[in-house]
Amino acid sequence: MSRLDSFIRRMTAQRDCLNRAAALIADIPGPVLELGLGNGRTYDHLRTLFPEREVFVFEIKVAAHPDCIPDADHLLLGDFRDTVPRAILPSPAALVHADVGSGRPKEDGELARFLGEHLQPLLRPDGLIVCDQDLAPQGWRKQPLPQGIAPDRYHIYQR
Ligand code: SAM
Repeated sequence: MSRLDSFIRRMTAQRDCLNRAAALIADIPGPVLELGLGNGRTYDHLRTLFPEREVFVFEIKVAAHPDCIPDADHLLLGDFRDTVPRAILPSPAALVHADVGSGRPKEDGELARFLGEHLQPLLRPDGLIVCDQDLAPQGWRKQPLPQGIAPDRYHIYQR
């Protein structure tokens, strides 16, 4: 598969999983958390999907499109290992989207293990995690992916 094909599949998986998540949390109140602002593409998609909800973004270094940068009240700047355990939200989150992969398997695996453990307290019991990494959160079940997305390309978890 060419790198272009792989990129398109990753973007398609992200969009389709976020759209699926929007349907799954339609009746679950709470803010949305975005881990990894990057260019701001998925943040922009989330705020389009959830115009009525607060979207809080965790990022170590903001380098997004200028139109896709959250205001200071919704930006938790710093390493996830510091900001996630210390985050104080107005209410438990309905959805976490974490797009945090670097392409370095060892570092990504370590970060996934950390997030799999530390994201859970930020979520409602019926909340959802959508992630590019396999977080293997204890006590959470993998949910089916939208049609056409290869297993393990993206992950949706609910307790
Ligand atoms: N979803 C984004 C988009 O649509 O543009 C792309 C996210 S990009 C793949 C991953 C982001 O996670 C990068 O902006 C990187 O700086 C951030 N990141 C990675 N590890 C981090 C860490 N330990 N703490 C905070 N931010 C981190």
